[in-house]
Amino acid sequence: MLLQTAREEIAQACSRLTSDGLVVGTAGNLSVREGDMLAITPSGLPYQDMRPDLVAVVDYHTGEQVEGPLKPASELDLHLTTLRVTGLNAVVHTHSHAATTVASLQDVAVLPAVHYYISMFGGPDVRVADYAVYGSPELAANVAKALEGRTAALMSNHGSVVAGPALSATYTLALELEWVCDLYLRTRAVGTPKILSDAQIEAVARKIRDTGYGQSAPKEG
Ligand SMILES: [Zn+2]
Repeated sequence: MLLQTAREEIAQACSRLTSDGLVVGTAGNLSVREGDMLAITPSGLPYQDMRPDLVAVVDYHTGEQVEGPLKPASELDLHLTTLRVTGLNAVVHTHSHAATTVASLQDVAVLPAVHYYISMFGGPDVRVADYAVYGSPELAANVAKALEGRTAALMSNHGSVVAGPALSATYTLALELEWVCDLYLRTRAVGTPKILSDAQIEAVARKIRDTGYGQSAPKEG
């Protein structure tokens, strides 16, 4: 089986998507690039039925399917474009509640720096990409524009997309983006959000670059 590890990772992450509140039904999708190929969730399969062998594999350069019995996600273009623009290896696209709510507000062009976590996405804000019909090349192009210098974007009246170096880290980043969106909505609901300056966000980004963020458990034994 091509890309066995990536397909196993995707199937495992799918089992958490609904309980983690990132998707409803079959909305949202995940992908992992390895060299010239991409493993991506298939279109329209309920997440509880996901297995590694059902994950689609496509050519990274052409998007043509090379393995898997089911068609790739309808947002294949979005995934390929996000990987190309960011130069990263994994993508999580969701329709989570808070991110989609922020992306559906008339007066919001960016998710501002309401929390220093915003620095994890490459800049002092996360842009909202213009709306276009799902699965269309226009949507992928709008997201590419919103991703300039960023590793995440909100998608107007649709959801969010996050890129990262590997699927597990990207999945965590998607949860963190959802959390920042939720915080933004809460602050707006009770008052005026206090927004961190570009310099304050850059200082956080520098600190993460220099010292990392969080720790990993040392191996036992
Ligand atoms: Zn979508």
